[in-house]
Amino acid sequence: MIIPFVDLKAQYLSIKKDIDSAIFSTIDQATFVGGESLKSFEKNFADACGVKHCIGVGNGTDSIYIILKSLGIGIGDEVITVANSWISTSETISQAGAKPVFVDIEPDYFTIDISKIEQKITSKTKAIIPVHLYGQMAEIDKISDICKKYNLYLIEDCAQSHLAEYKGIKAGTTGIAASFSFYPGKNLGAYGDAGGIITNDDSLASKMRMFANHGALIKHQHEIEGINSRLDSLQAAVLNAKLPHLTDWNNRRLKNALLYNDLLANIKEIVTPQIRPDTKPIFHLYVVRVERRDELIKQLNKAEIQIAVHYPRILPLLPAYKYLNHTPQDFPVSASYQNSIVSLPMYPELTADQIKFITSVVRDFYRKSS
Ligand SMILES: *Cc1c(COP(=O)(O)O)cnc(C)c1O
Repeated sequence: MIIPFVDLKAQYLSIKKDIDSAIFSTIDQATFVGGESLKSFEKNFADACGVKHCIGVGNGTDSIYIILKSLGIGIGDEVITVANSWISTSETISQAGAKPVFVDIEPDYFTIDISKIEQKITSKTKAIIPVHLYGQMAEIDKISDICKKYNLYLIEDCAQSHLAEYKGIKAGTTGIAASFSFYPGKNLGAYGDAGGIITNDDSLASKMRMFANHGALIKHQHEIEGINSRLDSLQAAVLNAKLPHLTDWNNRRLKNALLYNDLLANIKEIVTPQIRPDTKPIFHLYVVRVERRDELIKQLNKAEIQIAVHYPRILPLLPAYKYLNHTPQDFPVSASYQNSIVSLPMYPELTADQIKFITSVVRDFYRKSS
């Protein structure tokens, strides 16, 4: 029995009628960029997050870039972000013309270590981009305090945290703006590339909308040079059909994570993910830290269990950032974790039996080899 890492087909089958009718009615309307499905998704997603504006864009990476550019961040500026993330978080800082400055993660929750942020702030620092990684929020209240103290923009990377909560605060609602990815495998995923930005700031919202649409809010009135990054109508229709299920899907992921935690408890070679007190994580990924990782991965593969690693190398140690001359000692926690983390299958449709099978393979591996 093959257990896939994510099972997008199972999710499609569970809501096939809604998806099919959303797609066919969009084709029927023959509006493929803009139109009703986009407008209604933007409104529905903003409402779900509890903010004033949502701007649909081409993908999650663009959403970060558009925020940075619209805030006027560029050449000569520095932006602080976290060492363990997907490269979109930092490559967009460089694309905007600024310099990414990396901070290590704290040991328990894989999010930015707030005690190490202030030492990285200089006169050039303009913004902080924390990432709510794996579906768990960073300490957004404390990061917000730091931003206020030093007059910095707070931009939240919510690509892995749709509707996650921290002390009753929803992901993406604390900072000046937040970026979302609706890549197919994300908790809310389209059937192609898609992204979105949320904000409560009216003037920033219209600037971002303009920048993402060739610098024009009205056709042919280009106030500035922008880019072409729009959420197309078919993707918006798919997202609209899926959005009503998001909370239920997030809850099922959490339930699956708790079952994993239970079944993997008391194996001394494994550290299961911890949940920050007073938070509601949405478990985009289920990441454990293990001993003899590469051997375990071989064993899981042999049992036809698909796994992944997020991420095999932390950002500052990637070839792309060689010019920054970092060493693993600069990021002791995340650099040491990169060789011991493994992401086990995680999605709402994953069954208890599948989780029991996966965890039994893991348990057997350590029993036999210890
Ligand atoms: C997926 C992801 C992105 C980028 O999203 P795309 O839609 O793939 O461009 C950005 N940041 C993080 C943390 C992500 O996981």
